[in-house]
Formats: sequence, structure tokens, C-alpha cells
Amino acid sequence: MTAQTAFSAIDPGHNRTDCHRHDLARLLRPSWAELDFDALGRNVAATRSLVGPDVRIYFVCKGDGFGFGAAAVAKAAERAGVDGFCAGSPDEVVSIRSTGTSLPVLLFASTTPDDLPAAARLGATVTVQSLADMDAVLAAGDRIEVFVEVDCGLGRYGLRPQQWQGVLQRLRTADHVRVRGLYSHLSTPDDPDISRQQAELFRQAAADAAAAGHDDLILMLASSRVVLAYPDMLFNAVDPGRLIYGGGLDENWMEIGGLSPLLTAVKSRIIQVQEHPPGTVLGIGYGAPIAIERGMRTAVAPIGFWDGLNHIPPLGEVLIRGRRCPVLGRRTFQHSVIDVTALAEAAPGDEVVVLGRQGTEEISIHDLARAIGITVIELVPRLARSLPHVYVGLGQERDGWRG
Ligand SMILES: *Cc1c(COP(=O)(O)O)cnc(C)c1O
Repeated sequence: MTAQTAFSAIDPGHNRTDCHRHDLARLLRPSWAELDFDALGRNVAATRSLVGPDVRIYFVCKGDGFGFGAAAVAKAAERAGVDGFCAGSPDEVVSIRSTGTSLPVLLFASTTPDDLPAAARLGATVTVQSLADMDAVLAAGDRIEVFVEVDCGLGRYGLRPQQWQGVLQRLRTADHVRVRGLYSHLSTPDDPDISRQQAELFRQAAADAAAAGHDDLILMLASSRVVLAYPDMLFNAVDPGRLIYGGGLDENWMEIGGLSPLLTAVKSRIIQVQEHPPGTVLGIGYGAPIAIERGMRTAVAPIGFWDGLNHIPPLGEVLIRGRRCPVLGRRTFQHSVIDVTALAEAAPGDEVVVLGRQGTEEISIHDLARAIGITVIELVPRLARSLPHVYVGLGQERDGWRG
């Protein structure tokens, strides 16, 4: 099978001149993730209708855009109308800037204080979240734009209530420092009482910032769950991630938001079918060998834990020829062994659906996460960053192919 035939088997309509040889070679091992960038656009529109025209949307592109590629998602989200980006690390700032965007990029706390000026020079608005960060930006030679992050109870990073007043006052005195905004992140969005208390503390921080003389601040507290649950906590900007990827939220929140997943499917193909006569002893995936009493037919798909799935059972099921088939033993580095005893016609080349639809059957991301014992928010970026990306949907984006 040539790279071209492997490729056209996956995406028959694709013009192969605009993707790279490396991607084609990677897809000769037929395991891939299908991404629908139209869904991302629809989710931006859904977010816009939730927050209204005047609240800025800073789209969170941490974890290399949840594994989908920070540049690719940033580009699609900018077209759909976001107002800024949040990056989780300096290299993501570089990726986002590589799209040519002039929108603001907020860098969440991720460097040591000393490296804040260097991170700012990449084109980021950096986070001041500690006294040491304050000292570092005060000592910076160049003009530097910052967001101040306050801790209203998450206990991760951020200035505590007894610290922020002093820092806000101090930053006001430095001509080379421009404070663009103030943000925080709630600890327990499921609990309205705790969330209201933390939001109240954030309101206090905003009042303290205004009293210290910081005008026109961007005030941002609302990640996805907050946007969906607390319309009174939107302030003048929001910083959702999962809402826009349409992934990683509980099923009920997906429905409430009218969201569609960017990650629509994870698929592979059978590369081998094997008949095991009664009495065969097999230790599939290095598990303890078991004697197969009745005989078994197994199929191998080249997708393993390296691709973002799990190693130790439970391993869940896959769809082949529209039927659910259990995954056996332990999943190995790059392979899954599937019980196809009930599928006499199973053959090399058959599509194996790990996530998504086949015929009338479907394995949703929530089904898959439950079946293999991983939370959806961990599973989505694991799959997205591990597997080659194939773009599906109407307005197919062709320039984001990633090897
Ligand atoms: C991860 C993160 C977000 C986005 O969270 P979602 O639940 O994906 O919307 C927003 N703000 C901060 C500070 C974060 O760390």
C-alpha cells in the first residue's frame, strides 16, 4: 500500500499536494483522529450568544490547544470571532503568534519570575501572580504588559487577598508596566455558594485595582463551566477552553451549551486477523497467559497507549462492521487486540472505530472515558496530541496538517 492509497482511503477527496510527506507516511499506520473545525466555529458562536456582544472572549489554547495544535485552533477561533487567547506556556505564545494574529495573548503562570520579560518579548501579556513576579516586571528594562492574577480560593497560584492591594499600588507607580487586566479561576464551579463567595472576593480585587488607579481593566473570572452556569459572573471578559473545543465537559453541559465536539472520531484499521484453535494459551498484551477453551478469532488494530489510550484493563470496546467488539488483554504500546470471534467477515483493512459512529452504533467520548476509566478532560487532549489529524466537515481547513 502506498502512502497515496493509505491517504485516499482515509480522505478520498483530499488533494494531496497541500500536505506533507511526513503526514502521509504517518497515516500509512492507519490510526487517526478526525477534527471538525466547523464545530469549533459553531462553539465560538454559541459562546458569543451566551456572553453577548460586549464581553471579550479569551480562548484558552493551553496544552498546545488541548492537543489539537495551538496555531490551528487559534486561527479557526480568530476567524469565528474571539477577542484574544490564553496560552499555557511560552512555546504556545510562539505558535499562536505564528498565525500572524494581532490579538492579545495572555500567558498563564508558567515561567519562573526571572523569565517573565523574555516571555513578554515573544508577544505575550504575562501574568503577575506573586511578589517575586512583581519584582521581576518592575526590574524589566522594557515596556511590559501584564495581567494580575488573584487567588480567590483555588490555592494554586495568584496573589492572596492580603497581597494584591500592595502589588496593584506598586505596579501603578512603574511607567514601563501596563496592567491590562485582572483574572482569577474558581475552585468549585459545581457549588454555587462557594462560587459566589469567590466571585465576591474577585469583585473586591477589581474595586481595589480601580482604587489603585488602574483604569479600563479587563476583568476575567469565567472559564467554561462558569460561562454556562453563572451569567452574573461574566464581568467584561471570559476565558473558556472546553466550551470552544466542545470537549471535556459533562454530557449535560454539552447539551446546555448546544456544543459540538472538535474531536469527532478516533479510528484505526485492522492490520491482522488470527484464528486461535481451542486450547490455545495466550498472554495478550503481556497479561498472564490464559487458555482459550472454545477457540477465538482476534483482530489487531495499530493503536495503543502511545496514542493516548490506556494500557491496563478495562479497555472498552471498538466498532467493526457496525458491531461492538471487546478489546482483549492489555493494550500494548502501539496495538490493540480485539475479539472478533462473532464477526466471521472481519478482515484486514476494516475500519475500527474507537470513538465515533459506525452504522447505527456510536461510542461517544463519554462512553469511551467511562469504559477505560479516564476523565473526559484528560482523554481528549491525550488523543488529540498523540494521533495524526484528519480534518472533516464542510469548510475543511487544509493548511493545518500536522505530523
Ligand atoms: C484551564 C483554564 C481555563 C479554561 O478552563 P475550561 O474549563 O476549559 O474553560 C481558564 N482559566 C484558567 C486560569 C485555566 O487554567
